[in-house]
Amino acid sequence: MSAKMNPACKACGGACCSSLVMSLPVDGPADLVQWLTLRGKREANSVRLNVPCSALEDGKCSIHLMRPQNCRDYKVGGPQCIAAINALRPNNAPYLKRLAREHQTGAT
Ligand code: SF4
Ligand code: SF4
Repeated sequence: MSAKMNPACKACGGACCSSLVMSLPVDGPADLVQWLTLRGKREANSVRLNVPCSALEDGKCSIHLMRPQNCRDYKVGGPQCIAAINALRPNNAPYLKRLAREHQTGAT
């Protein structure tokens, strides 16, 4: 179990922890898809909802050592991480540069 926060995450301040991505039902009722889309931003077959994790404090995970397994498995620098940065950091260049420089591919 890593107690150390990834340096790229420290710089980013938890873009991935600031929203919740939900897959849209493939054959779901159009009304439901519209209802979900009205609450967030459409991204291909999913919607990004503005629902920050309650454990995110000042850009850091306040329960880092006890965070859920899916947070441990989340790949820093992976496609979901990049998508979160692009969606939530309007000036995304420094964050993407930092990721590239650190060659970070480990978990948060
Ligand atoms: S995993 Fe990516 S999006 Fe999440 S805090 Fe780290 S750098 Fe930011
Ligand atoms: S538990 Fe921590 S790492 Fe997981 S989403 Fe919340 S703030 Fe982020």
